[in-house]
Amino acid sequence: MLRLKNKKVLITAAAQGIGRASAELFHQQGAQVIATDVNMPLLKTTQVAEHHYLDVTDLDNIHQLQAQIGNVDILFNCAGVVQNGGIMDCSEDDWAACLALNVTSVYRLCQAFIPGMLAQKTGSIINMASVASSITGVGNRFSYGASKAAVIGMTKAMAAEFVANNIRVNAICPGTIESPSLEQRMAANGDYEASRKAFVQRQPMGRLGQPIEVAQLALYLASDESSFTTGQVHVVDGGWTI
Ligand code: NAD
Repeated sequence: MLRLKNKKVLITAAAQGIGRASAELFHQQGAQVIATDVNMPLLKTTQVAEHHYLDVTDLDNIHQLQAQIGNVDILFNCAGVVQNGGIMDCSEDDWAACLALNVTSVYRLCQAFIPGMLAQKTGSIINMASVASSITGVGNRFSYGASKAAVIGMTKAMAAEFVANNIRVNAICPGTIESPSLEQRMAANGDYEASRKAFVQRQPMGRLGQPIEVAQLALYLASDESSFTTGQVHVVDGGWTI
């Protein structure tokens, strides 16, 4: 049985990592997947129904896409960036850029697509947070932790607002997942092996997570199998926060 049959899905940041794994899994499960990203050459290699350019920090782009594709049943706000550094490293520009991509984009996409969900009386929104948020503090993730805590706050507020409208809103909080941007971060400090070892060490399971392991949780939250859960923070972190 296809778990997302007749569902129309919009996924942001679907060219690589967790977004890509989710887009392809949703497609395999029968959804009409509209995959979006800013990296069009890579996005076009994703096995889904439709590819569209979407810079989630661009309000006009969001409105144009909404006018083009219409209502969706499922919105997966996956786009986000890991900004390294503590509070003393965080410039005004860093702060603004992190919030624009990780927080304001979620507000704008939800505001653009919730009216359609209200009209069709059904919807599932999945917001990508992180365990580095209000769940656990990570010393060199000041702006990132703040931004992902905000995603959890928005998720709960929207879930409470729309609980009687058959629109569910849930957040996913991964631990350390082996994605292209994580590979870049491990290579960036000059000692890839030491960096990788440090990332693995914070995972009690002794390994990094794979994008598909997060995509499987997203599939559950997107599907009607999760019809009685909303406003919740779903952790998939290899035991990091036990
Ligand atoms: P990634 O960081 O490797 O890829 C991110 C994608 O976002 C890229 O395809 C990139 O082109 C796209 N992107 C960048 N700026 C964009 C913009 N303005 N508009 C639209 N797309 C844009 O992927 P990932 O590591 O799987 O991360 C995906 C999400 O998961 C992020 O929100 C991230 O914070 C979150 N997350 C990741 C981890 C991890 O360990 N990888 C852990 C917790 C949470």
